[in-house]
Amino acid sequence: MTIAISSEFDGGNIAVISVEDPAAIHLEIESDHQSDFLQWFYFRLSGAKGVDCKLSIDNASRTTYPQGWDGYSVATSHDLNAWYRTPAKYDQQALSWTITPEHDVVYFAYFAPYSLDRHARQLAHWAGQQGVAQERLGATLDGRDFDCLHIGETGGSLVKSARHQIWSIARQHPGEPMAQWWMEGWLNRLLDDSDATSVALRTLADIYVVPNMNPDGSFRGHLRTNACGANLNREWANSSMERSPEVFLVQQRMHDTGVDMCLDIHGDEALPYNFIAGTEGVSNWTEARDQQLIGFKRTLAALNPDFQVEHGYPRNTPNNANLSFCSNSVAQTYGCPAYTLEMPFKDTIDTPRPDVGWSPERCAALGSSFVDAVYLALTDRLLP
Ligand code: ZN
Repeated sequence: MTIAISSEFDGGNIAVISVEDPAAIHLEIESDHQSDFLQWFYFRLSGAKGVDCKLSIDNASRTTYPQGWDGYSVATSHDLNAWYRTPAKYDQQALSWTITPEHDVVYFAYFAPYSLDRHARQLAHWAGQQGVAQERLGATLDGRDFDCLHIGETGGSLVKSARHQIWSIARQHPGEPMAQWWMEGWLNRLLDDSDATSVALRTLADIYVVPNMNPDGSFRGHLRTNACGANLNREWANSSMERSPEVFLVQQRMHDTGVDMCLDIHGDEALPYNFIAGTEGVSNWTEARDQQLIGFKRTLAALNPDFQVEHGYPRNTPNNANLSFCSNSVAQTYGCPAYTLEMPFKDTIDTPRPDVGWSPERCAALGSSFVDAVYLALTDRLLP
C-alpha cells in the first residue's frame, strides 16, 4: 500500500514536502489565507499500518508562536472520537515524532479538532430544548450561516429589564478548538433542567452564545483569521461587513440586548495553564471591578483545580487598553465584567494528564464550572 498524507477536509492544514521514505516524512504548516499567521495543523496518514514512521514539521521554528512547541505533544486519533497524545521533540527548528500506526489511517492535529458538522448538530440539539432560540445573525464572507443561541426566559418571574444579559463567544481564533469544546460543557450544563444551579442562573439571566465566531477560518484550517485574513479579536474597534462581518453582527446584536457580562474563550499556544485575562486598562475601570475580577478567578480556581490564578498575561496598565480586543471593547462600551479565558494547547503543568494532555473532556468540565462561577458572581457570592 502507498503511504499518503492528506488534509483536504474540514479544518485540514498541511503541505507535504516528501512522503516517499516513511522514516523521513517531511511536512510544513501552511499560513492562513491572506495572512502570515501559521501554527494550526491537521492531517491524516494512511497506508502505514505497522510501518515505523518519523514525521517532521520542518517549519515549526517559523510559526507564529515557536515557543508553543516546547513541551508539546501531538493530538492523535484513529477514530476521530478519542484523541490521545503522541510525544514530540522540538529541536528549535523542526517538530518531529515517531509512530508505528496500529491502524490503516491515523490523524494528527495541533489540538483535537471540532468540525463544522459537529457544530451544526450540537446547535440543532441545543436549539431543540425549552427556552432556547437559534438566531441567524447573518452570513460569513464565504457564505456560511452565522448563528447565535439565545437562552431566554424559562418561567422565572423577573421582567426582562431586571435580567442580566450575559454573552459568551468562542473561536474568534479558529485554530483554538478547545474554545468550542469548552462551549459544550458550558451549554450542556446550562441546559440541564435537573441541575439546580443552572435552573437558578437561567431565572436570573438571558444568555447569548456564539459557539463558533469564525466558521470560515475553522473550515479553512486557519490559526487566527477569517476568510479574508482578518484577525477577529483585533477588529472590535472598527468592524465592518466587508472585512469582519462576524464581529460586526455580534456587536449589532449586543447593542440590542445590552451586556452585563461577557466571556470570550481562547487557547494560548505557549502557556501550560488555564487563566483569565481581565480588562484593567479600560478608562472606566474601578476598584470594585478589580475586586470582582479577582473574586471570579479565585472562585473558579476553588471550583476547578485545572484553573489557576498565579500565571497568565501581565496586567494592562491603566488607560492603556487595546480596544480592538473583544473583552476591552465590551468592558469599555458597557462598563461590565468581560473576561478572556485562555486554555493551553499543551497540558496543565499543575494537573497534568500526559496521555491526553489538555483534552476536549477537560475543556468541557471547565465550561461546566463556569456555570457555578457565573451564578456566584450574579448573586454576589464570589470568594473575596
Ligand atoms: Zn485566541
